[in-house]
Amino acid sequence: MNTRFFLLCYFVFLGMGSFIRVYFKKRYSREDITQSYSNSFEFVLMVLPSLGMFFLPLIMAFTNWLAFADYLLPAWCGITGCIIFIFSLWLLFRSHADLNKNWSPLLEIRKKHEIVTDGVFRYIRHPMYAAHFGWGVAQILLLWNWIVGSSMLILMLPLYLYRVKKEEKMMLQHFAEYEAYKKRTGRIFPKIKRG
Ligand code: SAH
Repeated sequence: MNTRFFLLCYFVFLGMGSFIRVYFKKRYSREDITQSYSNSFEFVLMVLPSLGMFFLPLIMAFTNWLAFADYLLPAWCGITGCIIFIFSLWLLFRSHADLNKNWSPLLEIRKKHEIVTDGVFRYIRHPMYAAHFGWGVAQILLLWNWIVGSSMLILMLPLYLYRVKKEEKMMLQHFAEYEAYKKRTGRIFPKIKRG
């Protein structure tokens, strides 16, 4: 009963996450992009997390093919997963909204690109990636299968590791103030202030 209930919760959250993404993608325009730093290898890496988000959960919901890897967790783990997921969806929405016209699904610089250092960007440099990590952790707690549960977290790691350094290098090349911004913020967790 609980397995199916939290599986259903997962698909509701997946629908909400997809809605946020589609909404902002519709507002995205490539018109004033002056430089693109993305390549075809990055496109391949971008497909991997969607296998963990959509494809494997659908296989889990509609077939028994992966049932050998099922596990059971207490209900409070599923509830914790729901809370983490809701927070991640909020972070996903906020990060898109705060970047506003500067957002791009790829590594791109616009003619009138402005560096964003407020909103959720005041605390962390990569709230959108942080939201996806939160999603990955929530998935483990909601989809009780070793393969499907961990798939999002594992499959998004190559993209994150490949992109984050490249993105920061790109931002540094275009915005001198990114150096100071980097010093006062954390990548996906807020920096603990010392002294
Ligand atoms: N790494 C960020 C943004 C991901 S979207 C996050 O996790 O929230 C990637 C695009 O956002 C890049 O093409 C870059 O142009 C833009 N971007 C990233 N950080 C930015 C910032 N602080 N200000 C303005 N644009 C930014």
